[in-house]
Amino acid sequence: SLTLGIVGLPNVGKSTVFNALTKANVLAANYPFATIEPNIGVVPIPDPRLDRLAEVFGSAKTVPAVVSFVDIAGIVKGASEGAGLGNKFLANIREADAICQVVRVFADDDVVHVDGRVDPLSDIETINTELILADLQTLEKAIPRLEKEARNAKDRAPVLAAAKMANEVLNAGSTLFAAGKRVDLTLLKELSLMTAKPFLYVFNADEAVLTDEAKRAELLAAVAPADAVFLDAKVEHELLELDEESARELLESVGQSEPGLHALARAGFHTLGLQTYLTAGPKEARAWTIHKGDTAPQAAGVIHTDFERGFIKAEIVSFDDLIAAGSMAAAKAGGRVRMEGKDYVMADGDVVEFRFNV
Ligand code: GDP
Repeated sequence: SLTLGIVGLPNVGKSTVFNALTKANVLAANYPFATIEPNIGVVPIPDPRLDRLAEVFGSAKTVPAVVSFVDIAGIVKGASEGAGLGNKFLANIREADAICQVVRVFADDDVVHVDGRVDPLSDIETINTELILADLQTLEKAIPRLEKEARNAKDRAPVLAAAKMANEVLNAGSTLFAAGKRVDLTLLKELSLMTAKPFLYVFNADEAVLTDEAKRAELLAAVAPADAVFLDAKVEHELLELDEESARELLESVGQSEPGLHALARAGFHTLGLQTYLTAGPKEARAWTIHKGDTAPQAAGVIHTDFERGFIKAEIVSFDDLIAAGSMAAAKAGGRVRMEGKDYVMADGDVVEFRFNV
């Protein structure tokens, strides 16, 4: 399954966020390199639609989709040259499908900052620079090889051209993700370039930042087109200990409508290019994970490969239409249930029943 690699400078709160995400009990320690071995956390995506579906269908349980985070630990300046366990970190990042960067925006004199001050944009630049330098090293080796290949095989020429364009973009200080369509990244998959992966930012903030709209807007603009989530890792930990009522009060006091971890799980899922469709019956109401753009047979294949092979059609109603109608029978009577064929591209929140040959 696809994973997001959690990266960031030491002491920005990576372990704290990761532990809150997984409720795992790994010690968050106040010194650099506290987390060396990568840990994988499988996190359910909170989805209130499942509870509604379970009511409508009388389902015995709900099964949410999940998203996987890998705790990769501290990158420092010089990681691309092997400093601070740099090589190991970079190898772990290369294996992740997206990069989730935790950035410190909280003030706390008791927590040491590696550069001696809290400066989120400078921290982001430090990490990006290391990833950019590592990608430039990869290209430095790849381009001469691609030049040779392009001389012998015509179809390698576009790959070489894309590699040269990527080199230019990186030399100008941009990540490939931020460069958007200027580089054809589909041609460069074989190089596993790190800055080509989708980025997601987690701003680990304190109350002052969480309630400061202008500051948040400034940080969001600085990382666009990447998605970003604001949370207070310490508050997230406290929330895990509280009952629902007290948790709601604590969230309100810091101006948030839901736990930041919920937003993070959802944002991670979307950053990976994933979406869900829903099924429901007496046994369970369930969210299934597919890629954005998947067709109905591909979606069926997630349940069982036989479903994809024997696909005939899909009976589909949007979640909103189903809830508005109140039951499947009422949705059908109201003409809200569609029969879709093998070319249908799934939409998020489609409630589906597949028809297939076995
Ligand atoms: P990592 O090195 O990035 O994994 O950072 P840790 O998660 O180990 O956190 C480093 C220190 O910062 C620990 O003492 C945490 O308790 C503290 N910390 C983490 N998040 C926050 C936060 O949101 N606010 C404050 N005040 N301290 C935090």
